[in-house]
Amino acid sequence: MGDSRSRNVSQARSSVNGATGNRPAGTQAGSSGGRPGPKRISRKQREMRRKRQQLMAVSLILVLLIVILIAVLIKSCGNTKPQTDNVTTPAVSQPETQNEQGNASQSDGENNNQDNGQNNSGNSVQEKEYTGEDGKLHKVIGTTEKGYTIEEVDGVTYVDGVLIANKTYPLPEDFIPTNPEVPVTEGRSTKSLDKDLMTAWRQLQADAAAKKLNLYISSGYRSFQVQKTLYNNYVAKDGKALADTYSSRPGNSEHQTGLCFDLNSIDDTFTNTAEGKWVNDNCYKYGFCIRFPKGKDEYTGYQHESWHLRYVGTELAEKLYNGGDWLSLEEYFGITSKYPD
Ligand SMILES: [Zn+2]
Repeated sequence: MGDSRSRNVSQARSSVNGATGNRPAGTQAGSSGGRPGPKRISRKQREMRRKRQQLMAVSLILVLLIVILIAVLIKSCGNTKPQTDNVTTPAVSQPETQNEQGNASQSDGENNNQDNGQNNSGNSVQEKEYTGEDGKLHKVIGTTEKGYTIEEVDGVTYVDGVLIANKTYPLPEDFIPTNPEVPVTEGRSTKSLDKDLMTAWRQLQADAAAKKLNLYISSGYRSFQVQKTLYNNYVAKDGKALADTYSSRPGNSEHQTGLCFDLNSIDDTFTNTAEGKWVNDNCYKYGFCIRFPKGKDEYTGYQHESWHLRYVGTELAEKLYNGGDWLSLEEYFGITSKYPD
């Protein structure tokens, strides 16, 4: 192929040279014999133009193919369940997220407009409903930016099976702990906390006591109404903006879940006590996390609270402990904690 081509070119060249015997003198003076004449330039240009056109056609096809490929990929991604396999489902009384087979059904999205702003956190919304092992209706409302499933059960939000109560995800006013060791009868209780939490707590407390550390629960479960009174008092004292940095609005407090508690003195002095230090370094071994770690205000929406522990189970707690550099639940799951207003 290359041979015949070069032969054609050389033939063309000689004919061109013959035809340009009368080319203007001066312009070509001193030029080498191979200097191209006007016709040869246009032929070359034509050839180049043809090549350019071919190249453009090929790139157009390529671009088209890439676009189609991307479209197909996006579509298939939307249908794929986010990978949650490498993450532990804590042992708390939380619904399983892994079993959406069987009775999973496509919802038409008519009834997904809860008043708690769950769909405005930039998460993909692919509605699915199914009945969980708990016999309750689970509504898959999307995935977090880190790929974890967000579900809603009885108006409560679970991310990868972990109950979330923060500024973005509130609890219904009438929500009470689902698995309390002692039934909820009062607005405040240090006993109506989750059964698994209480088992872990007793172990933690005993191990701390063996090291001559005195730990006690100073605040446990708090009802919506109790939180409302607390919050309103803080607002009256410090103003709404400041109160929002350290106190939850009613419905947004984790204390309503029965899955957390405050230890000892509820203030910054706890951080540097022997108890505070030991809790910070060891609570994960019992399944607790520092819910509002130091320097994580922008994720959690709250100031550092060394005394507020949340029960999440040992596997997740160890991941949050992160070798001593505590991660917040919000960072870990890729969710927000912001009031809609
Ligand atoms: Zn607390």
